[in-house]
Amino acid sequence: MGLLAKFDQQDAAEIGQEMHSFAAGLYPICRSITGDGIRRTLAMIQDRIPLQTFEVPTGTRVFDWTVPKEWNIRDAYIKTPSGRRVVDFQKCNLHVLNYSAPLHATMPLGDLKQHLFTLPDHPDWIPYRTSYYKEDWGFCLSHNQMLALEDGDYEVSIDSTLEDGHLTYGECYLAGDSADEVLISCHACHPSLANDNLSGLTVATFLAKLLSGRDLRYSYRFLFIPGTVGAITWLARNRDTVERIRHGLILTCIGDAGGFHYKKSRQGNAEIDRAADHVLSHSGESSEILEFSPYGYDERQYCSPGFNLPVGCLMRSVWESFPEYHTSADNLDFIRPGQLAKSLRVCVGIVDVLENNRSYCSENPYCEPQLGRRGLYRSAEGGASREEMMARLWVLNLSDGTHSLLDIAERSGMFFPVLSEAADLLCREGLLAVVPNGGGDRRRQIEAMRENSLPSS
Ligand code: ZN
Repeated sequence: MGLLAKFDQQDAAEIGQEMHSFAAGLYPICRSITGDGIRRTLAMIQDRIPLQTFEVPTGTRVFDWTVPKEWNIRDAYIKTPSGRRVVDFQKCNLHVLNYSAPLHATMPLGDLKQHLFTLPDHPDWIPYRTSYYKEDWGFCLSHNQMLALEDGDYEVSIDSTLEDGHLTYGECYLAGDSADEVLISCHACHPSLANDNLSGLTVATFLAKLLSGRDLRYSYRFLFIPGTVGAITWLARNRDTVERIRHGLILTCIGDAGGFHYKKSRQGNAEIDRAADHVLSHSGESSEILEFSPYGYDERQYCSPGFNLPVGCLMRSVWESFPEYHTSADNLDFIRPGQLAKSLRVCVGIVDVLENNRSYCSENPYCEPQLGRRGLYRSAEGGASREEMMARLWVLNLSDGTHSLLDIAERSGMFFPVLSEAADLLCREGLLAVVPNGGGDRRRQIEAMRENSLPSS
């Protein structure tokens, strides 16, 4: 039984609830691209899957970038002239401009306003803002909160540190039969934001959990890294071994109510691109395939010209396209248990394709083998369903050593697991043989097959 069929035997509602409560546990943590927030996050992922963490010192050169100072924060607030805490980091960690330098000062409202960020179009939401690479300080608050501030002197405090330290990331490696790898990457650097950050972390964690302990064809490497500089750091440290990555997927914004979007790798027609397209088109949900562009998430780094790895990006709503993006409205209500579970299911479907996509040779290429004699054909007494019969006929017909199962799925319009099951059965019946090494030198193999089985005249 394939991975997807096994997954479908479980209770999707229960999985969704468990995923959502995992995200809820991570939600309050004030994460950033460095610091204790990401460490605590990785520790909570480590409770579920085998995760190795890495610490890269501040100042380390990684290609054109440098690992920044480590940022940590304990508290921050703005106090009114009457001594009331009106903006309070303890209530919401989005209130502080992420990476704010430490500060304790008193200043008139006019000066303070130079450092305040709001969203006039959504006056009750708090924006999420960062200043990683330019030392600054600031506060984010709802527009209505700002309008309510009266003239006077305000006490402003940011109890943070910005010091030499480390950039932290986590890797979960699951060894398979082959050293060839599937890379699953997600960013883990956003504070209390649910869809953009936690949904990807959650789906990746549950996918790793689901795959661990299984017999796998590929090895799997799950990365939980700070966005941009984390991916750049990882690539700089693993430059010599990235050619092992045969397929890759970035998971982000994957828990909201929207339909699926898959952004293709820079290669554009990699196996992962085709697998994702195929699985989404059979997912029963709306989905759209997007062409590669050099903007978005860490595909920007994996698909930079020096690497050009086959890494695509799986999302539901696309970053920046939904109003809740990078605001306090991207909260735990914005992601839904059912959507998380269905996203995990799509990922399992994609893995199922990658694991089982092989090329086969028919052992009977001259006309159809007699399936009825073997009980493999549709008959009056029942036997195969029409779908099963069609899957067997498609697999037998296109298995000339030059077509993979995914090729057959695309051409027949049939769902991959049905074809994969047919191929397994036909192999057991001695009607089909796997082309070794994924079909390298396929032409020669098929010619050899033809010569061997040519009817003698
Ligand atoms: Zn983001």
